[in-house]
Amino acid sequence: MIGPGAPRLVDRPWPDAGRPVVLVPVGSTEQHGPHLPLDTDTVVASVVAEALAERLRAAGVDAVVGPPVAYGASGEHQAFAGTISIGTQALTFLLLELGRSACEWAERVVFVNGHGGNVEALATAVPVLIDEARPVAWLPCVPGRGAGGPAGPDVLDVPVDAHAGRSETSILLALDAGRVLLDRAEPGNDAPIGELIGELRERGVRAVSSNGVLGDPTAASADEGAALTDAMIADAWARLQRGRVDERGCLAPPSRGPAVDPTTGAVS
Ligand SMILES: [Zn+2]
Repeated sequence: MIGPGAPRLVDRPWPDAGRPVVLVPVGSTEQHGPHLPLDTDTVVASVVAEALAERLRAAGVDAVVGPPVAYGASGEHQAFAGTISIGTQALTFLLLELGRSACEWAERVVFVNGHGGNVEALATAVPVLIDEARPVAWLPCVPGRGAGGPAGPDVLDVPVDAHAGRSETSILLALDAGRVLLDRAEPGNDAPIGELIGELRERGVRAVSSNGVLGDPTAASADEGAALTDAMIADAWARLQRGRVDERGCLAPPSRGPAVDPTTGAVS
């Protein structure tokens, strides 16, 4: 699924760097249950960034994918071997300096985030960069509204669970099936994330799930993963095209439903 044509910044010698939009995947190195690779979030962020770069180029905009940030803020997974977290503070500084440096020559930098634990660092660093008049923004890899996520619409009839469960396992089956150990997939704690979040923040994932899974990966399928991936890319593309950044520096999704003109009541 990783497009052979996806343009990479590092393939350009410096005289050819140009002034592109640089999409930087931001992932993690953290446990994803007994069946998924540690770089699951980095794989997802990279695929979304590559798709965005291809769409921008198809629209006549020079765009490249930068090397991914493969370490993130994953303290909640630290009780599981394999996890390497640099924490929110270090990630914040990394994003700040990366953005400052790249904006010396890039048209724009867009961080494409694949891990929820990185949001605090992004929401801290990117507004500072924007205050410094640097053209930087970030967006999440979410399947968009309707997929059960917080942003929620209307079309996608696929359940979305929190971590290394059905949705994430399906996505990896679609993107990189050879690295999914499906015979090891087993249910974890599949209580709604809202019920777990307090204890999870305080004591980490291990306190609520001994195998590191939040959800149930056993019904995962590549077809479902392909639909979720398409929905993530569509959501990211809609955010990029709309181009509106919220107070966290995050590219906002198009608003739900048809827009209503507040003065005339006309629906557009
Ligand atoms: Zn993940």
